[in-house]
Amino acid sequence: MTGEVVTGTNAKEPPCVAVYGTDGGGPFVLVSDHAGRAVPSYLGDLGVSAEDRARHIGWDIGIDGVGRALAQKLQAVLIEQVYSRLVIDCNRAPGHPTSIVKISDGTPVPANHALTAEQIAYREDTILHPYHARITQELDARLKAGRPTVVVALHSFTPEMGGLKRPWQVGLLHNHDKRLAVLLMELLRKEGLSVGDNEPYALTDTSDYTVPTHGEKRQLPHVEIEIRQDLIDHPAGQEEWAARLARLLPQAWALFCQTYGVTPGAQADAEGAMA
Ligand SMILES: [Zn+2]
Repeated sequence: MTGEVVTGTNAKEPPCVAVYGTDGGGPFVLVSDHAGRAVPSYLGDLGVSAEDRARHIGWDIGIDGVGRALAQKLQAVLIEQVYSRLVIDCNRAPGHPTSIVKISDGTPVPANHALTAEQIAYREDTILHPYHARITQELDARLKAGRPTVVVALHSFTPEMGGLKRPWQVGLLHNHDKRLAVLLMELLRKEGLSVGDNEPYALTDTSDYTVPTHGEKRQLPHVEIEIRQDLIDHPAGQEEWAARLARLLPQAWALFCQTYGVTPGAQADAEGAMA
């Protein structure tokens, strides 16, 4: 961690954003909405057991280790949300029905019931908005300097949902601009992996917030990567996936530049970005 502090909550609480890695001049900016599972002290334990808070409902298991190792290998900046998505989901627009969940995968979240507008606004102002402002700040600085910039959103998914086993080892999510996702998908498949194409989730305008806000609206090349949690719930798996992505992301970007006529040192042509 760079030691940078973004104080969203009051001084007694951990800052809501953790920034890892150093910018070595490459195109990638890594963001991780569900990497953390802290709960502000004023919310206690949310009324949820420690065991449940440690489940996937609290955070994206394993993605913290992958993201931090990947940031180091790519010499890229990683911006992580520190607080649990049970407090507020930073991949949802403010006011979205699942922004602050009352029940998650069968587990009630008592601290999220009967919230006033002020209480909701407080969580947005102290956690959601400062996190996205930090991402915006990073992207603004790069674009001002005329640097190529690729937004990479990192997530993990459960091996099973609703009693069904999910066959994919990794999923790439896309919506309005699938160019980089398709190129990375082909590279992952060449490694013999089962790769979900908009699986286990599809990226949409409403169910997501980070890629639509920082990738699509800004017409920046982007990809959302979901890794199955049993593959990265241990350090060796995290290292393996970080090494794989550190190898393949630059290859995908080089192919992107060739295919779409982008000079690697210049920003992608905005015209084609929403194709
Ligand atoms: Zn996630």
